[in-house]
Amino acid sequence: MTLAHQKARPIKPGGVYPAKELCSQCGLCDTAYVHYVKDACAFLNQQFDHLETQSHGRQRDLDNPDELYFGVHQTMVAARKTEPIAGAQWTGIVSSLAIAMLNQGLVEGVICVQNSPDDRFQPQPVIATTPEEILAARVNKPTLSPNLSVLEQVERSGMKRLLAIGVGCQIQALRAVQDKIGLEKLYVLGMPCVDNVHREGLQKFLETTSRSPSTVVHYEFMQDFNVHFRHEDGSEEKVPFFGLKTNQLKDVFAPSCLSCFDYTNALADLVVGYMGAPFGWQWIVVRNPTGAEMLALIQDQLETQPVESQGDRKAAVQQSIPAYEKGVTLPMWAAKLMGVVIEKIGPKGLEYGRFSIDSHFTRNYLHVKRKYPEKLAAHVPEFAKRIVAQYKLPD
Ligand code: FAD
Ligand code: SF4
Repeated sequence: MTLAHQKARPIKPGGVYPAKELCSQCGLCDTAYVHYVKDACAFLNQQFDHLETQSHGRQRDLDNPDELYFGVHQTMVAARKTEPIAGAQWTGIVSSLAIAMLNQGLVEGVICVQNSPDDRFQPQPVIATTPEEILAARVNKPTLSPNLSVLEQVERSGMKRLLAIGVGCQIQALRAVQDKIGLEKLYVLGMPCVDNVHREGLQKFLETTSRSPSTVVHYEFMQDFNVHFRHEDGSEEKVPFFGLKTNQLKDVFAPSCLSCFDYTNALADLVVGYMGAPFGWQWIVVRNPTGAEMLALIQDQLETQPVESQGDRKAAVQQSIPAYEKGVTLPMWAAKLMGVVIEKIGPKGLEYGRFSIDSHFTRNYLHVKRKYPEKLAAHVPEFAKRIVAQYKLPD
């Protein structure tokens, strides 16, 4: 049996995790490392300052506008694979990088997430030790995923060099325990993440939003202000953001994600997303020398261009705050029209990234303030407080 096929301990059915309803099911508490949860859990102990210093040698410079938003970094670039991987979420930069690291002997295994055999959206974390197992993990499982549930297998296998692929809450907990798992070198490849859902929440989102929920194989909230669905038969469906039934979707997002301020995965060595890149391109943030070493491995597989920034997001963000609060949903014709106009004149590139960060941070700040007022001061990091302070918020 390969490591990829050893199952992690299952999430305790109906069990209560230390972060209670804020738990994002990162998987740490399904291992013996649950012992460290009070210190390690992203929702019990916000510690970006300490973990940024541990991971990158310094904290983000809050007076540098790009670092305030996108975190510690050396460079940012827009890129796409010259030969995309079929079936990947975007062009497959994440999978290609993991394969290159394995093939060139930098790592012995890769934490990534495949799907269960009977449900394309049900995550199944694995430690992949072959390119085939990494490829089988390509494409997003747009649900909370217990990636860290396989951590004990890392220690048991005697592996010394590991690549972990994951989203912010998983990486925060991993960084907090990384020196307890017997590794000589850990590489972290992160993805931005926002508005994730439990499996049932995903079903509700698909049923409320898509014309054919049962045939969706892939979706993404894109920079053209539409949700793009791809169906089993290869057809594409676009639904404008402004036409989403926000009144019905408010309780769909996981409570953890409504309390999260790590959209851009602050603690990864290298981040691969799309939010700061032109439509069709991926956005890469190199945070430290380890991230630069990783990216260099696949440079010859990539076409790149500098990141750009256009437009001014602030009025749109300010207007979206009361609209979200009231659960405003436009008729579809108006939503489509609005989408077309905003795509022409709205924020692009890094400014689109800031638009998305501002919209989510203001919403999440209000959520924490109202629901967990006693947590607000310690849980919201300083960078998020500064971002939110640019807007006028309701009580
Ligand atoms: P691929 O080569 O297809 O590889 C995808 C990798 O994602 C695989 O290695 C797999 O292990 C991992 N993965 C899949 N599902 C999960 C999961 N649930 N948790 C952890 N790891 C997972 N980018 C943005 O710019 N803005 C966003 O708002 C945003 N939200 C995201 C939300 C989620 C839940 C996820 C998983 C990703 C999100 N991303 C976001 C990143 C983006 O969608 C792409 O995943 C990224 O650009 C990599 O694309 P790729 O083609 O290189 O990946
Ligand atoms: Fe445990 Fe992770 Fe849930 Fe926190 S988010 S309680 S560390 S499983």
